[in-house]
Amino acid sequence: MSETSDKKPKQQTLKFKAEVAELLNIVINSLYTDKEIFVRELVSNASDALEKLRHLQLTEKGEMADAGSELEINIHTDEEARTFSITDTGIGMTRQEAATNLGTIAHSGSREFMKQIEEGKKVDATLIGQFGVGFYAAFMVADKVTVHTRSWQSDENPVVWSSKGAGNFSLRETDDLPRGTTITVDLREEDAEYAKADTIKSLIRKYSNFVPFPIKVNGEQVNTIQPLWMKSKSDISDEELTEFYRFVANAFDEPTYKFQFNADAPLAIRSLLFVPGENLEKFGLSRMEPGVSLYCKKVMIANDVEELLPDYFRFFRGVVDSEDLPLNISRETMQDSALVAKLKRVLTGRLLKFLAEEAKDDAKKYEEFFKSFGMFIKEGAASDFEHRDDLAKLLRFDSTHDTETMTSLPDYVERMKEDQQAIYYISGPNREAIEAGPYLEALQERDFEVIYCYEGIDDFVMTTLREFDGKSLISADQADLKLPDKENEAQEDALDDKAAGDLASWIKNQLGDEVEEVRVSKRLTNSPALLVNPDEMMTTGMRRVMQAANRDLGPMGKLILEINPGHMILKRIEELRNEEGGSNLAGQAVHLMLDNARIAAGLLVDPKSLVERSTQILEAALNKR
Ligand code: ADP
Ligand code: MG
Repeated sequence: MSETSDKKPKQQTLKFKAEVAELLNIVINSLYTDKEIFVRELVSNASDALEKLRHLQLTEKGEMADAGSELEINIHTDEEARTFSITDTGIGMTRQEAATNLGTIAHSGSREFMKQIEEGKKVDATLIGQFGVGFYAAFMVADKVTVHTRSWQSDENPVVWSSKGAGNFSLRETDDLPRGTTITVDLREEDAEYAKADTIKSLIRKYSNFVPFPIKVNGEQVNTIQPLWMKSKSDISDEELTEFYRFVANAFDEPTYKFQFNADAPLAIRSLLFVPGENLEKFGLSRMEPGVSLYCKKVMIANDVEELLPDYFRFFRGVVDSEDLPLNISRETMQDSALVAKLKRVLTGRLLKFLAEEAKDDAKKYEEFFKSFGMFIKEGAASDFEHRDDLAKLLRFDSTHDTETMTSLPDYVERMKEDQQAIYYISGPNREAIEAGPYLEALQERDFEVIYCYEGIDDFVMTTLREFDGKSLISADQADLKLPDKENEAQEDALDDKAAGDLASWIKNQLGDEVEEVRVSKRLTNSPALLVNPDEMMTTGMRRVMQAANRDLGPMGKLILEINPGHMILKRIEELRNEEGGSNLAGQAVHLMLDNARIAAGLLVDPKSLVERSTQILEAALNKR
């Protein structure tokens, strides 16, 4: 928007920001289902505007337009004129605000919404509000949308915003208006049903029953206003809770968990919190924003408050009401408020306890929850020192123990063998890949359980936790894996210690800088060789993450190659290197063995030299015949 002079023209036509135009195009042309949700979105905006006003009334000293008017939402339907209009006595908008709020998209999630649709993904139109572009839903049913609005700030002039959705909108000044906003939708012919009072009434009962202000349709009040969280537990039905979740989360699905928590000490708290049905962040959508609103004695202080829960609990949706909070606390002061910090501590503790209880009551359901929301728990376990133990208990992993059910760390500890000192884990892309690799051998021989880590963050969690229940967490690819001795039926005809030691030095010579060291392995039985880590913080899982990010690990990145002196390949290399003219082929075999060990560790190898070596060795093998 460019303005040429300070004095605003009476009437202006402005272009939508490109992304709004794009969004509108999609809304108008692609979202045919669930058009009805536009009612919910407009009511929800009216309710937001009223909440903000109610809060201002308590905190603003200055003069306010129409200070005495009732806080309510009035809907008018006119079948003849084919219009739907909704009026609120909320904060309204200044000219500038109307241009910005209704002409641009401030929310980060909306880009994702459009991308999904553009990529031809089936997108649920009911999600539109969660992406923060609810206002535009009106264009699903509108030929034209007109917004009359007047800000609560008494020195601002009322304005009219209107648009047909095609690329631009107009703004003009108007004569005096009462404070608040009226949105008039000129309905398309095929959407005439939304000009019927009965249709609208039933939609309000369906979607907006918990709006905490009276909603009247042609003068008749439709909703029952009662903040659900102030009722006692026994008076709230399960259906009401679900309905309430849908209202606060602006969602349509079943919540995964419903959580009601009331307390009188150390703080007075009444709260209803929910784990949503879906983790939108998991689908690669943008970060989930906090979605818990803070109230004081039924008056909303702020919505989507960041300071109320730790960052990793950002997926919770709901309401927290505490009469101990001062009403005039602002978004800015919340961060420094000791009371809010205290509230956060209490809530965090309760939520952790609550999740632990749910996990105990219904382990299968908790596992489903974890599959979808586990990333948040991991994030917490790796970042929240204060609640680390409780978060660690909430983690779930696949392991050697059971292919069906995931395990927790306490269950693992329960099953530990008498002579087992540590909790072992190994990272790899999936169960199959890990089980095909060489790392489990030594541990399985001793009947020690091994936890599988599939994601980069898992390794990170393990290395930051370092221990659980007094037991170290150890990556099975660690170089000095101290294992209780095992009577190894000395592999017959294995190379003797001297020969094996010499061979190791010779191999190190062949490999040069590619490895830190070559050692004779004490743990291998079936595989010829494996790579282990001299640095316990830099597990192979972490290496894979670094490699994927194209980070050069430098000298600290070097690994130790362990060789199995009982394995046929090593024995044959030993013979070959001593044969006349055999050392070249033996050298190639050693390099190939290293590449195989890298692949088993999930690390990248240079495909060109791999192919060259394999070819040479194949030729040699076939020549022998
Ligand atoms: P969201 O509600 O998630 O912010 P919307 O697309 O629904 O996104 O609304 C965009 C913005 O327009 C709101 O954030 C608000 O600033 C403004 N707005 C919409 N409706 C009203 C209203 N009835 N009163 C005041 N402001 C409104
Ligand atoms: Mg909205």
